[in-house]
Formats: sequence, C-alpha cells, structure tokens
Amino acid sequence: MNYDVIVDCYTDEPSGLGVPPFLSVHSRYIAGTLEDNKRKYYYLTIDDLRFNAGETHDVASYNKRILNVTKNKNDVRNILANAENIYIVMGCFVKYEYVSAEPPSFVEVEELMKEYNCNKLLFYSLGGNELTRENIRKTVPQGLFSDIIFGNTYNYFIGEKNNKFTPNYDRLRTIAISSSSILNQLSRPLVIEVETAIGCNRKPGCTFCIEGMRGLPLQFREIEDIVAEIKSLYDKGALYFRLGRQPNFYAYKNCNPNAIEKLFQRIWEECPNIKTLHIDNVSPHNVNTLEGVKITEIIAKYTTAGNIAPFGVESFDPKIRELCNLNGSLDDIHESINMINKYGKERGENGLPKLLPGINIIYGLDGQSNKTLDYNLTNFRKMLDSGSWVRRVFVRKLTSPYGEQFDKYTKDKLEEFEYWNCKIRKEFTIPMLKKVFPVGLVIKDLRMEMFRNGDSILRQMATCPVRVVIKNTELKLDDFYNVRIIGYIGDRTLLGEVL
Ligand code: SF4
Repeated sequence: MNYDVIVDCYTDEPSGLGVPPFLSVHSRYIAGTLEDNKRKYYYLTIDDLRFNAGETHDVASYNKRILNVTKNKNDVRNILANAENIYIVMGCFVKYEYVSAEPPSFVEVEELMKEYNCNKLLFYSLGGNELTRENIRKTVPQGLFSDIIFGNTYNYFIGEKNNKFTPNYDRLRTIAISSSSILNQLSRPLVIEVETAIGCNRKPGCTFCIEGMRGLPLQFREIEDIVAEIKSLYDKGALYFRLGRQPNFYAYKNCNPNAIEKLFQRIWEECPNIKTLHIDNVSPHNVNTLEGVKITEIIAKYTTAGNIAPFGVESFDPKIRELCNLNGSLDDIHESINMINKYGKERGENGLPKLLPGINIIYGLDGQSNKTLDYNLTNFRKMLDSGSWVRRVFVRKLTSPYGEQFDKYTKDKLEEFEYWNCKIRKEFTIPMLKKVFPVGLVIKDLRMEMFRNGDSILRQMATCPVRVVIKNTELKLDDFYNVRIIGYIGDRTLLGEVL
C-alpha cells in the first residue's frame, strides 16, 4: 500500500526527551518530511502494538505499557500489515522508571514486529559512529531491521545520508511546520520538545559527552523558524512546549540576550494561550556572566512558572572536574544557582517558583574516588545553607554514548551507586523538596497522569514535574486539578489533597 508507518518506541537523550508525556523531535520530523512529500503516514506508539497484542489495564492500576495509545489503536494490525515502510524510533540513554510510559527493549520490539515483512528501518537517537552500529548489530535481533539510521531523522529523507548529524536548518524550516500533522493522530495531550540548536559552545568539551563524539559545530535555528514551528503545532491544539533540544539553552545565538528575548516575545505574540513554555539544559559557565544575568532575567520573565534550568554539574570533585574538563568552576556553579534564585524564586500563578536550577550528577566519571561523594554532599549542604532553592537533582551512572542498555556494571558498583543516591536523597533532595513544596502549598493545573495501586498520580505538563499522589482515589485521566500539599512520600513525590 502507498503509505508508511512511524512506530514511536520513545527516546530519552542527554539533550532531548521523547518519552510520554513528551513528544520527541525524531518521530515528529519524520512525520514532517512525509507530509512535505505528500506521502501518507500513520503514527503509532509501542503502546498501540502492545494494546493490539492483548495487554489490558488492571482494576487497581493503569497499565503504563498501553497508556499512550494513539487514535489508531484499534487498527494496528491492518495498518502495519499493509505498510510499505515502517520507521521505528528508539534510543533511551538511561534505564529509568517513567511515571506513565515504558520504553521497549529490542527483544520486545522484535516480538511485536516480526510478523510484518515490509521494509523496517530503525532510527536510533543515541551514539552515532560505527562503534554504535556494531554494538547495536550485536544486540538487536538479526534481520529485524533492514538498516539502522543515526542522526537527524529528516536527513535520511532529504538525501543527506552521509551527513547524519549535521542539521539542515534550511530544509527543517518547512519540515518542522509540516510535522504538526502528527497531532491529528494523537489521543492525549503531550509536551512538545522543540529544537533550537545543536553542538556545544565549549571546545574542547567534557570528555564523556556525546556532543564531543559527534564533533558538530555549534549551529542555531532562526527565531522565526522556531516560532513558525510552534505556531503550526499551537494552531492544531498543542499548548505545552519545551525548548529542550539543545545542549545549552543559554548559548542560543552565542549567548545573545536580545535574540533570546525576541524568541520568547515572538512565541507569545503568535501563541498567546500557551500553557507551558519551558527550557532544558544549561551550562553553568554561561550563567554567571553579564549576558547570563540578562538571559536569566528574560527566561524568568517570559517562561511559565515551574521552569527549571538543569545544570550539567556532573561532579563537585575538583579532581574529576579537571580530568573530565567539566564546565564552570565551583564558584560559577554556586553563584549561578544564587543568581537564578534571585530572578526565579518568586512563585507564579500555578504555585511553583518561576525558574529554579536543577543539578545533574554522574556516578563513575574518570578520577572518581572515595572522596567524591563527600565533595558532592559538602556542596549540596552549601546550597541548603545559602537559602537558595534547587528544584530537582538527577544522579545517573556514566553510560556509553549509545545508552545504558549496552553497559554492564559490577554488583559493587551498583551498590555504591545506590548508596550515593540514598545519601544525596536523604541529605539534600528531600530537605530541599520540603522547602520548595511546604505543607499547605496549593499547586494548580496538575494533570491526572497515572493510577497505581488505588492511588492517583498527578503532575503538571512541564519540565521535570514533581509527582503528587492522591491516596485511595481514581481521578479522571487527563483532567486537571488543583491540590494542596499535605505530606511527602519520597524525594520527588508529594502527598496531596484535591481542592
Ligand atoms: S558543556 Fe560538556 S556536557 Fe555540555 S554539551 Fe558541552 S561537552 Fe557536553
């Protein structure tokens, strides 16, 4: 038949998220190229395939493996059986327990796809060199995919087959606009991830980073191209956006505050009723500067409350910072945290601080010793003592550039990693959570996202949203609620009551 199918198996990259409730650029830009070429396509998620295979929900819990079905869920077999090409999109950097989605393994993809004999291409969002290809070839079931494609998905369709990662922002201009057609096939609201740039503005970069491996020069999309993309999605009903696909938002147009302000102004002029406009990925060395101060003020002013600037701190151990060429000094990091607090700590209409920093830490970097955790904890304590707030801490293991599913860790390392997590959680994340979300605080516009063991789990449609559990109640999926905080369940989970 004369159509293709995109099967979204979800992506989670160092810069760019595409696990529900987020929609990645990868599937969307395939949709955009097909639409541009007047080629009919269907968009399916892995959840559609599981639903088609007979998976069901439980009485006391939703099955998150089938929660993100599309409008095509009842016609999956027919759609796949008659497709000319199937484009499978996947690549998750870490093995993470997502609230309401579950990315598949290669084995599961094989199980669900093996009966369909058409041309099946894997678009893999991580890695990007021949080593990645070799590793994936060794891991994925033989013969399942006719080819594995890396880099920008749209490059494959516009004939740039040897130019996988270099963006073609001229061609992307129309592709990005056409990509909004994908929304016609979605059945639930998503946060749309938007790309603003590619490449790192530090040379040489951090030793472990995927951007360095890809070696791309820094390139920016034009303001009007980004605005036109968001407008086309907004016109089709999208209300939640994150400018998250770039290694460092502050680097946009070479750290140009005027350009960043213009970008936000134009987005609001064209799309005045957007409900979420957030960012992701920030290098602290660009925050504690004259331009950085202005950019911080602009982000706090123009984005919606609950925004987070996650810093790739990675480690507070000076030896690691030097060995791995990490960005910014420890003073830069602390001053950047204080500065973001100065402009962003005030609460917005939805009850959340407008803009707060986040901290990313990596376990297993070169130079790590038994002093490293102490360095991290000492600096976390300094943040608590300073009165500044931090919205979320993410501790992850060092992974190979093609994703954690290709890595092996010894039992000792896994135990030590867990110990790190517990210590940081207990000594920093939970005390900080209590400061940012005190008992009695009212938070608005939380979406009912998941029902588990008789409890409802709500989150805002936002970047790194906190979870709020409403005990012994099944609220209506995808409805929005205002809640009051009445307690704490974990390092990122609050107990609430519906108002
Ligand atoms: S600053 Fe470091 S971690 Fe961030 S993109 Fe550049 S090389 Fe990668």
